[in-house]
Amino acid sequence: MGKSSYNFFTNEGSLRTLSTQERKINLQRLLLFKHLFSQGQANCGELSDALNISYPNALNLLQRLTKEGFIKSNEQKRNKIFSINENNELLTLTIQVGIKKSYATLNDQFYDKKEEKSIDNIVSPIKDLGQGLQAIYGSIIKTLKLAQKDIIGVSFILPPFSEFRGNFPTPEALQDLESELQSYSKKFISIINYSNAIQRATYEKYKLKLNNSLIITINNEVGLAIVSNGRMNNREHFPGSEFGHFPIKNNGTLCSCGKKDCLETQISYFAIIKQINHELSKGVKSLIEPDNHCIQNIIDKALAGDQLAIDTIYKAGNILGKAISILVQLIDPSEVLIVSELSRSSNVFSNGIFSGLNLYCPLKKTNQLKIIFEKNNSDKLVLGSFYTIWDKIFRKKQSELQISA
Ligand SMILES: [Zn+2]
Repeated sequence: MGKSSYNFFTNEGSLRTLSTQERKINLQRLLLFKHLFSQGQANCGELSDALNISYPNALNLLQRLTKEGFIKSNEQKRNKIFSINENNELLTLTIQVGIKKSYATLNDQFYDKKEEKSIDNIVSPIKDLGQGLQAIYGSIIKTLKLAQKDIIGVSFILPPFSEFRGNFPTPEALQDLESELQSYSKKFISIINYSNAIQRATYEKYKLKLNNSLIITINNEVGLAIVSNGRMNNREHFPGSEFGHFPIKNNGTLCSCGKKDCLETQISYFAIIKQINHELSKGVKSLIEPDNHCIQNIIDKALAGDQLAIDTIYKAGNILGKAISILVQLIDPSEVLIVSELSRSSNVFSNGIFSGLNLYCPLKKTNQLKIIFEKNNSDKLVLGSFYTIWDKIFRKKQSELQISA
């Protein structure tokens, strides 16, 4: 059973031999599966309406998918409810690429965690991203003893843009790298960055409530995803987040992208730590120990009332408020979701943001704007990666089948 579903998602070679009619049927099967994947369950009528497939045709395809083991049905008061079959595992792998170590998480199609492993990188992904990712993938497959298992997709989460020190691949190079890894591994491959993963997870959590919204992520980098008409923009091959690299303050701080005054040089974790170190070196009194380079520690000290920590986080919030004001004028979102550990600093960070908004954003817009604060965690990273790889599988498979014979 596992084998046939694996083939359904991967049989690239046999595509050429499919007739137009077979393509159409496979496309409809894929869309039925995709709908159940994202909605959980539905009956034949709902699926037929949602996908614009005739009722008898949908029923026929659903019966076929059930027979093949992809989906199952439950009879409730003579109404058959269809959902994804848990007995037919479809595995995806998330590889969180670190500088020295990488972490792998294996999930099934319900996001149930199957296995977790870490490995030491043999080739540095910073020096040679292509060789690095290939080597990491190889070690993980070996460590997980996955050769026999049916993983259909792999998503790599890259280290922050700044770690690459100007060596970050162009969007075109990243796309080529994905194709290279795809032909090497025979899996669907997605290469994303940390912020993409967090944004995708946040979108998934709120998606039904989002219409025109912004999702801003602040960690070691600063990122933005735009949700318009309920759909999140697809920025697969980011050249570093443009939002994090827009110039905001005129003080000449050099950014990892080579330019000066980027937002990221003001409000990322790195920037906050750097500012605190600078103040400490000038002899400013603080509860923060000079060598404690950790954002968690700085937030804890802010919560304990440390003035240097409070001032620095407040100032970062204020600059973010200014940046959001620009976005509000350009895009006019109804809500802004801010995902960061800084949200943990009680209302120090949010007070900073509101002060920035009050200063730079028309009051009418500020009053209408809803700001939602979300904390960051590593579960979000894997969850976002999980959805990103399934997005990719559906999108690639769909476009393959849509190309007319
Ligand atoms: Zn920059």
